[in-house]
Amino acid sequence: MRRGAMEALLTGVFRTAAALLIGCALGLAAPARPAAAANGPPLIRDAEIEATLRRVADPIFRAANVTPSTVDLYLLQDPEMNAFVADGQNIFINTGMITRLDTIDELRGVIAHETGHIVGGHLARRAQATSGGRNMVLLGLLGAAAVGIAGAPDASVAIAAGSQQVARRNLLAYSRGEEAAADQMGVRYVATAGGDPGAILDVLRIFRGQEAMMPGIDPYAQSHPMSVERMAMLEDRIAKLPKGGPPSAEDAYWYGRMVTKLDAFLDRPAKTLREHPVSDQSEMAALARSIAYYRLPDMARAGAQMDALIAMRPEDPYYIELKGQFLLESGKAEAAAASYGRAAELAPDEPLILAGLGRALLNTDDPDATARARDVLARATRLDRRNPDALRDLALAEARLGHEGAAALATAERFTMTGDARDVLRNATRAADLLPVGSPGWRRAQDMITMARRALKQ
Ligand SMILES: [Zn+2]
Repeated sequence: MRRGAMEALLTGVFRTAAALLIGCALGLAAPARPAAAANGPPLIRDAEIEATLRRVADPIFRAANVTPSTVDLYLLQDPEMNAFVADGQNIFINTGMITRLDTIDELRGVIAHETGHIVGGHLARRAQATSGGRNMVLLGLLGAAAVGIAGAPDASVAIAAGSQQVARRNLLAYSRGEEAAADQMGVRYVATAGGDPGAILDVLRIFRGQEAMMPGIDPYAQSHPMSVERMAMLEDRIAKLPKGGPPSAEDAYWYGRMVTKLDAFLDRPAKTLREHPVSDQSEMAALARSIAYYRLPDMARAGAQMDALIAMRPEDPYYIELKGQFLLESGKAEAAAASYGRAAELAPDEPLILAGLGRALLNTDDPDATARARDVLARATRLDRRNPDALRDLALAEARLGHEGAAALATAERFTMTGDARDVLRNATRAADLLPVGSPGWRRAQDMITMARRALKQ
């Protein structure tokens, strides 16, 4: 994401923050505020952060007998302290949740509570409310802009008109009984996964503190307060569960790094630099400073800090990826492609790094790089079905190579994410006309044509 866009976005986010507050604790309700509905919070895409969230969440899913690969995790850039489940097995976590929590066990507790809603089938009980708007939450959010901390550009993707509105009406509140059930299941999952189930009480106390600070703003918070009764029930349950040990050194490291990275991208650079003075030569302080300098922008200092980090961890794909992003945004596409290329060697199955490599290659003056960019982007979009920017870059690469049919196919795929059936139909039809009859691309185009026609009929 470009800095200009980031600043504009942050201004917008903070302007509405006071009006948002929390809905149900760890619950579903809160985004349903008209003030925020116009654009919706953007999705943050970042290879390292997504890997860390999976590291935290997957043991919880396994403890709940849920296959981790069947649950998708989404990180929303939204300062409100909230997490929720939408459209089946999709867990959304706001940045405001992660930045306010203090420990990995608290985050485990939040994810476990949401997993409790999934396992309890609480959302399915509202199926009649969601059937009409199925996938609309996802479509709206993906269309709103997939914001990448690392390597993603502005997403000039149109939002399907009104999809956010439709989606938000479907975000209904859970009942008090369902919240209690999710609490009970959640603490059990955390204990089974070896974490501290008591950490969730700290999360609930943070929520309670917020209610006290800004009373009466959210009607759901008013009607479903963080009751003494709910806390007491939970305390009883937790007392009967094993306490769990401290997190592994590796888990603690990656959790700390995620929080440092997010804070540095979301806080004002001046604040970050004040909190992490040059006298602090630790890895986390260097990471925070590097990102703060990048956002100032002071690319020379940002690069120097990043080089120091890479010297500390020469095989770390995410630091090398971030250096690639800095270089690309400084207009040094060849050097950026080299960095991303190295990162991709270290993490060959990481689609966001591949997408960054493809973008860097497209920005070089080397004509031979286009074919490589195409291959890399094709792989990135096969591995990751929720990256509209990579599909746009893929279409660009195909068009430069003279493959108009493949370019139209990639563009049609991109529009399936934003939910605009007319654009899907137009591009898929063009792809079907240009691609060899019976080829995999042609068949995919036929599927999209059918899908789009069905959507347009409704
Ligand atoms: Zn809940």
